[in-house]
Amino acid sequence: MDRYAQHFLLDTRSIIDYCRKRLDFFSPDAPLQAMEIGDGNINYVFKVIDKNTGRSLVIKQADKLLRSSGRPLDLYRNKIEADVLRLQGELAGDMVPRVYHYDEVMYALAMEDISSYKNLRKEILAGKVFPDFAGDIASFMAAALFPTTDLVLHRHEKKRRVGACINIELCDISEDLVFTEPYYDYKGRNVLTPGNEEFVREFLYEDKRLHAQVGCLRERFMNYAQALLHGDLHSGSVFINETGLKVIDPEFAFYGPMGYDVGNVIGNLFIALFRKEIMEPSETECIGWIQGAIEDVYSCFESRLSDLYDERVDFPLYQGDFKKEYIRSVMEDSLGYAGTEMIRRTVGDAKVAELTTLPVSAKKVQVERRIIKTAIALIKRRRNIAGEGLLLQDLEGVAR
Ligand code: ADP
Ligand code: MG
Repeated sequence: MDRYAQHFLLDTRSIIDYCRKRLDFFSPDAPLQAMEIGDGNINYVFKVIDKNTGRSLVIKQADKLLRSSGRPLDLYRNKIEADVLRLQGELAGDMVPRVYHYDEVMYALAMEDISSYKNLRKEILAGKVFPDFAGDIASFMAAALFPTTDLVLHRHEKKRRVGACINIELCDISEDLVFTEPYYDYKGRNVLTPGNEEFVREFLYEDKRLHAQVGCLRERFMNYAQALLHGDLHSGSVFINETGLKVIDPEFAFYGPMGYDVGNVIGNLFIALFRKEIMEPSETECIGWIQGAIEDVYSCFESRLSDLYDERVDFPLYQGDFKKEYIRSVMEDSLGYAGTEMIRRTVGDAKVAELTTLPVSAKKVQVERRIIKTAIALIKRRRNIAGEGLLLQDLEGVAR
C-alpha cells in the first residue's frame, strides 16, 4: 500500500522515508538526517540533509490544524504557496526558494534550503544593516506584482488566475486581524500593553474618521483584484545575507491591491525603527539605515514600477495621465496598508518580536504610541503624502 496516498502529518522519521520514496533529490543510499526547523505558527517545516555531501532541502507541510492553536485551516493554502513560489521564481528569478516538488496529496512542498540567508526581522533587531535591501525588495515586488495585473496579462488569463487563487480562509484571517479587530475588538482578541488601554480606546476604537479610512482600505483589500500578492510580506518572510535576499512563505497569496505588499514591508520597517530609536538610541548606524530604507523602498518601488510600466503596457487608453493616476493610487495604498500593518502588529494578537521582546515599561508604551500615531498619519494623509513622496521628516511632528 502507498503510505502517501492520503494526507498525514510527517515527522522527522517518516520524512526521511518520504524523501526516499517520493523525491529523486538524494541518491538512494545517502545517509539522511531530518530536523524540524519551523518557528512559525501555522505549518511544519523540516530540513533534510545528506550527511555525506551536505546537500539539503526543506519540506514545508500543511496540516489540517494550525501548529499553534490547533484550530482547523484549509490545506489548499499549501498548493497556493507552491504555485506562487513557482510563478515568483519565473518572474523574479532567484529571489524565492526554488520549488523541487509539490505533493498535492500530502500537502508537502519540497524546496531549496535557504539556510544561508537569515531572518531579516531578527537581523535588524540584532543591529545589522543591509545596504542593498531596499533596492532588492523593491525590484522583487515590482517584478513579481506588476506582470500579474491585467495591464500586462490578457484579461481572460488574468481572470482564470484570480479564480485559481481565491484564498478564502487566509484572507479571512487578514480581514479580521488586520482590518477589523484593531478598531473593533469584536472577538476580544486584542492584547494591549498595560498603560495603553485608554490611548487605544481614544485613538483606535473611537476615531470615526479613522474607521472610515480603514473601511476604505479593508474594502479595497477584499475587492480590488489588481495583482497576485505575496499577502504576508513582513520582515520575517524576508531572508537576507550580504549577497542578496530570498522571500518565503506566500501562503496568504491572493489577487489584491499591490500596495498591500509594499505597505507590509514599509510598516514593519517603521516598527523596527521606532523600537530602536526609543530602546537602543545608541545604534545610530542601524537607525540611519532603517530610515533610509523606508524612504528608499517607497521611492525605488515607485520608479521600478514606472519603468516596468513603460516596458510592458501598450494599451492606448493606459498611456499618458492614466499611468500617473495608476501609480499614484498604488503608492497611496502602500502608505495606507503600512499604517494598518503597524497598528495590527501593535494591538492585535499576532505581534512582532520588536514588541514581544520588550517587557512592560513606560518606554514600551512610548514605542507603541509612536507606532500607532505614525500609522494613523499614514492612513489619514496617504493621499497627500503619495503626491509628494514619503519623507520621514514630514512625519516627525505627528509621531511624538
Ligand atoms: P509558517 O507558514 O508556518 O509561518 P514559514 O514559511 O514562515 O512557516 O517557515 C517557518 C520557518 O522555517 C522560517 O522562519 C525559516 O526559519 C524556516 N524556513 C522556511 N522555509 C525555508 C527554506 N526554504 N529554507 C530554509 N529555512 C526555511
Ligand atoms: Mg507563514
